[in-house]
Amino acid sequence: MQNWRFSQLDKTPFIKYVPLAVVLLAVGSCAGLVVTNSRQNVVISAPDREVYLTIRPSTVKDVLNQAEISLGPGDSVYPSLDTQTKDGMRITVERAKPVFVISGDRISTVFTSERNVGKVLELAKVSLAAEDKVVPGIDQEVPPDGTIRVVKVTYGEVTVDEKLPFDTEKREDSSLEAGLVRVYREGTPGIVRVTYTVKYEDGKEVSRQEKSRVKVKDPTPRILLVGTKREVSRGGQNIRFERALEVMATAYCPCSKCCGPYANGYTHTGVPAKRGVIAVDPKVIPLGTRVYVDGYGFGVAADTGSAIKGQRIDVCFDTHEEALAWGKRKVKVFILR
Ligand SMILES: [Zn+2]
Repeated sequence: MQNWRFSQLDKTPFIKYVPLAVVLLAVGSCAGLVVTNSRQNVVISAPDREVYLTIRPSTVKDVLNQAEISLGPGDSVYPSLDTQTKDGMRITVERAKPVFVISGDRISTVFTSERNVGKVLELAKVSLAAEDKVVPGIDQEVPPDGTIRVVKVTYGEVTVDEKLPFDTEKREDSSLEAGLVRVYREGTPGIVRVTYTVKYEDGKEVSRQEKSRVKVKDPTPRILLVGTKREVSRGGQNIRFERALEVMATAYCPCSKCCGPYANGYTHTGVPAKRGVIAVDPKVIPLGTRVYVDGYGFGVAADTGSAIKGQRIDVCFDTHEEALAWGKRKVKVFILR
């Protein structure tokens, strides 16, 4: 049996024992004593205390016994229990703490002093598939909140039909007035079948990559007829024009019902309001333009109106009755050369 002498002095500065150690070392050296017989100073560092001991050479396990420090399940000690002591050795005891391994909606709790994520996962008997993601990484330390997340990464395939846009073709049509466009045939979109490789993390899609693309149906183009005709016959008269447009036409006369109580009988451009004056949106038909309006006859764009915007005109008559008779109608307007 070995005869031990030790002191356990919690939280006592190690420095207090340094002179003693120096003396012992000096004596030991001078006397030529073998190292194994000399005294050693060691310190045990545990989370709740620090213990300073002066011992004969021994093992870590014996030193812990002398200090009455026991290890519980999951606790660890460094260096390991069978390590031979050395003078100045620091023995570190780490107490087990709970680590929570969260995988999907499952939580496993492991009591361990191990701080390496990969080793904790081994202790928790969590088997990782090659694609699985661990947060923090398996070579990292368990974070202060003791939580490790294992994200299951899986792959799947999704096939979707996507539309291919159609082109628009224009065809000249000499039976249609210049400036007018008709839809001859509506286009139809094509179909392309696209297969994607989809990445899921815990069942939720995080990304997708195109794997294949097969055309199922070609698009058919939209065909527009573009008018080229520049002459029409009206009442036995040939009318040559630059372009035609289709507008909604209303009618008015110089009266106060049509033009308001303060109307002075003159238009925006200063000409008297009378038959042959057409109110226009100058952005569509510039003021001063000579026109022929189907059902009305020749006229000049010489007036404007707050309600006359876009594809709208207002044709002026001499009498209120004529204006009422016109009402509101969709007509072709020919912009004359
Ligand atoms: Zn009127």
